[in-house]
Amino acid sequence: MTRLKAFDVIIVGAGISGMYMLYRARRLSLSVRVIEAGGDLGGTWYWNRYPGARCDTDTLEYSYSFDEDLQQEWEWPERYPTQPEILKYLNHVAERFDLRKDIAFSTRVESAIFDEAASRWQVATDDGAELSAQFLVMATGSISAPNIPDIDGMESFQGPIHHTARWPHEGFDLSGLRVGIIGTGSSGVQAIPVIAEQAAHLTVFQRSPQWSVPAHNRPSDPKMVAAIKADYPGFRAANRLQSGAQLSHIPPNDFSAADVSEEERQRILEERWQLGGFPFFGAFNDITVNLESNRATADFVRGKIREIVNDPAIVEMLTPDYTIHCKRPVLDSGYFETYNRDNVLLVDINATPIEAITPRGIRTTDADHDLDLIVLATGFDNMTGALLRIDIRGRDGLPLRDEWAAGPVNYLGLQVSGFPNLFTITGPGSPSVLTNMMVAIEQHVEWVSDCIGFMAANNHASIEATEEAQEAWVAHVNEVANQTLWVSCRNWYQGYNIPGKPRVFMPLPGFPPYVEKCEEVVAKGYEGFVLS
Ligand code: NAP
Repeated sequence: MTRLKAFDVIIVGAGISGMYMLYRARRLSLSVRVIEAGGDLGGTWYWNRYPGARCDTDTLEYSYSFDEDLQQEWEWPERYPTQPEILKYLNHVAERFDLRKDIAFSTRVESAIFDEAASRWQVATDDGAELSAQFLVMATGSISAPNIPDIDGMESFQGPIHHTARWPHEGFDLSGLRVGIIGTGSSGVQAIPVIAEQAAHLTVFQRSPQWSVPAHNRPSDPKMVAAIKADYPGFRAANRLQSGAQLSHIPPNDFSAADVSEEERQRILEERWQLGGFPFFGAFNDITVNLESNRATADFVRGKIREIVNDPAIVEMLTPDYTIHCKRPVLDSGYFETYNRDNVLLVDINATPIEAITPRGIRTTDADHDLDLIVLATGFDNMTGALLRIDIRGRDGLPLRDEWAAGPVNYLGLQVSGFPNLFTITGPGSPSVLTNMMVAIEQHVEWVSDCIGFMAANNHASIEATEEAQEAWVAHVNEVANQTLWVSCRNWYQGYNIPGKPRVFMPLPGFPPYVEKCEEVVAKGYEGFVLS
C-alpha cells in the first residue's frame, strides 16, 4: 500500500548540503522531508570509510559557518579532519539543531515526476512510499555515485572487492593480506600508504600518475585556532573571496612565475611545498591559466618525485605528463615514499592493461597478480551521476536523462529549464568542486532558501529558468572553462573517467564572480527565471 505525504519541500540527501537545507527550510516554517539512501546522515562522510579517509581542506574552513556558537565551540584536533571526526561533527550538528526527526534514512528516491496540473513534484521511494512537494531540492552530492569499472571476470574473484566509497562500516582487517588497488586519485592516494603499512603486500594498478603534494597534516595549532576564532566571520568572509580551494589565511601569491627569477621561483615553490596542502598550488597566481607557471610548478614536483622515490624506473612511472592541477589536486601523507617499500608493487596498466579479474586476482597482459582483496579506488560518476540515477521528469514528462544526453545544461548550476521548482545544490554549471565544497554548499543553500522565502512572501507558486538564460549560461561556462588549463587533460571535470559520458566541462571556474552573478540575478528580480 502506498502512503502519500505532502510537504512544502523535499530534500534528497542528508549530507552537508541536505542538512543545512533542512535547517534553512525549517527557519522559513515550511514542512520538510529529507530522504537519504544511507543508513545515517553525513553523505560523503557516511560512505567513504576507506583506510586513510580524511578531508584535504583545513578543518577550520571545512565546517559550517552559519552559526557562530557552533563554530566557536567545536574543536578540531588536527589540521585535516579524519572521516570519523567529520561524521562526529555532523552528528553533533544534527543533534544541536534536532535535524534527525525530519530525515527518512535507508530510503532511496527512485523517481521524481513533475505534476503540471498540481504544480508539484511527485516523489517515489524504494520502500513504496509516494510523497509530493512544491519544491524539490537535490542535495545528492557532486561526488557520490560510485564508478564501478566493467572488468571481465569480476564476479569470479574469490575474495572481496570493495569500492572506497562502499567500504565496510565495521572496518576491514588487512593484516596478512595481499591487496590490489585500482585507481590513484585522491581516494587511492590517501589509502595506498595506509594499506601498504597494514597489509602483507600491495599491488597498485595505475592508469594515470598523480601530481600529488604533501598534505603536512599536524595537530591543530592552538594559537592559530584562537586567532581565527577571534574573528571567525572575517575569516569566513575572506574564504568566500577565494576561487579555488585555497586557504583564506594563506592566499595565493599575487604574481606569475614569469615575474620572478628562476632562483626565486624555486625558493617560493619550496616554501609552499613546506606549507603543504592546497596553498602549494598558489605559489603563482596563474597556474591554471598560464603554461609557464604551470610548467615551473610541475617541474618542481617532478624533481620532488625524483628525490623521494629510489628506483628511477618507478619515478618514470609515477611522473605525470599532463599539466599540473588539471586533474583535481591530490594531497598525500607519504604517498611517493610508499613506493620505496619492499611490499609494494606498481603496475602501469597503460603499458600492461588489465585483461580480467580471475578467481585468484588480477590478470594483466604480462602477469597474474594473486590477491586476497581488491580495492576499487576508481572514483565516481561525478556531478551528473547521482542526479541521473534517479528518474527525474519535468514538464511534458521530459526525462532529465534526455535533456542532459549531450551533457548537463542549466542556469547558474541551480535550475534546469523545464523543471520548475527543482533546485540542484552545487550542480554542474556552478563552481562546486573547484572550490572549498563547504563554501559552495552554503552559498547555494542560502540562495535557494532565500529564493523560496521570497516566493512565499510574494505569493509565487513556481520558479523556472528560461531557455534563453540557460543557453547563455551554458555558453558562459564553456567560454570560461576554455580559457583555463583545466581543459588540457583527461580529467573527471570533463567526464573522461566514465566510458561514454559526454565530454563537457561541468563545473564553472571562479567562485567570487559566480556569487556576484547570483546576487545580481536576485537584485534584478530573479532575472533569467520566470516566477508565477
Ligand atoms: P578519482 O579522482 O576519479 O580517481 C579514480 C582513479 O581511478 C583514477 O586514478 C582513475 O584513472 C582510475 N580509474 C577509474 N576508472 C578506471 C578503470 N576503469 N580502470 C583503471 N583505473 C581507473 O576518484 P577518487 O580518488 O575517489 O576522488 C574523486 C574526487 O573525490 C576527488 O577528485 C576529490 O574531489 C574527492 N575526494 C576528496 C577527498 C578529500 O580528501 N577531500 C578524498 C577523496 C576524494 P584516471 O585518472 O586515468 O581516470
